[in-house]
Amino acid sequence: MPGKVKLDDETGRLAALRRYQVLDTQIERPFETIISLVEDILEVPICAVSLLDADRQWFKAQRGLEVCETSRDIALCHYAIQQEEPMVVPDTTADERFSANPLVTGEEHLRAYAGVPLVTPDGYAIGTLFAMDTQPRTFSDYDLRVLRRFARLVVDELELRLQSGADQLTGVMVHGAWMAMVREEIQRAARNANTLCISLFDIDRFKRINDAHGRALGDQVIRSVIAACETELRAGSKLGRLGGAQFAVLFTECALDQAVVAAERCRRAIERLTLSTPEGADIEVTASFGVAPLYSYALSPEELIELADRALYQAKSNGRNRVEVGQVVPSFYPGTA
Ligand code: GH3
Ligand code: MG
Repeated sequence: MPGKVKLDDETGRLAALRRYQVLDTQIERPFETIISLVEDILEVPICAVSLLDADRQWFKAQRGLEVCETSRDIALCHYAIQQEEPMVVPDTTADERFSANPLVTGEEHLRAYAGVPLVTPDGYAIGTLFAMDTQPRTFSDYDLRVLRRFARLVVDELELRLQSGADQLTGVMVHGAWMAMVREEIQRAARNANTLCISLFDIDRFKRINDAHGRALGDQVIRSVIAACETELRAGSKLGRLGGAQFAVLFTECALDQAVVAAERCRRAIERLTLSTPEGADIEVTASFGVAPLYSYALSPEELIELADRALYQAKSNGRNRVEVGQVVPSFYPGTA
């Protein structure tokens, strides 16, 4: 559909890509299946789902390539996302844009390319589904139709995950989904005159962990922290990822002292994690917690979070690896002081 793709908004494009939280994630079946089908139907030795990050292209799924990413300046897909139509290059050595490209002149011998942009519903080309050959070749209308349809399927799959409200790394609710759930639970608590509490927690000195051991290991630490908390929490407690290494738990039908005990159990479970680098060096992980109760039902989710956030800040400034409770200010809770 002409005019559908926003070609001149790189900031918006990167934000659209980030929203899917798919970069640097594991191999996953739906994308593998699509790539196998492209490989078989188009009979190509190389194909991939390529996502165009700021300075690199990263392959969510691929066949025939030795690497999981390349720098963006040599990526043919960098050109493919700058046009609405599929980009077809029957012979790279005859195209002045690519004839000196190291992927063409080097060992890879990339000679033919067909790439279809992966366009999000709001019109951003976040990457491509591409097929390549090490011999010059043409791609038929049928080949391009197949690529187009599978490219749409790739985006559909990413959208479905987004709409499910689950964080790709940990499987817990993403920020928006968690907030919507809290809003509903506050109303339910008001109807039933129940108490509820929330806790915000944040992994301590997480930047250091990333810097010392790399982001991929940082991701594993995040997954382990969440797994440890899930083991400690009962079914009525709902975890969400507010962003980065900051998480939240909603405790339904739960008094403040019980919520503090549960947060303390999570804190200890995180502290007890035994994680190590592939080289065998220990990684020590702790987290700080802030807990806040909803006594009266006058608070909005935002105010409740602010209260928990202040307690979390206290926990950080009091030395980290601890649980602090949100100060109950009478003006916050009229009639309950
Ligand atoms: P503090 O104890 O004060 O919280 O220190 P900190 O180093 O943990 O500081 P902060 O919470 O601000 O840093 C969070 C870091 O988490 C910064 C960011 O680069 C990193 N981060 C955010 N999202 C991810 C992710 O998905 N994976 C990884 N590995 N790191 C992430
Ligand atoms: Mg932190």
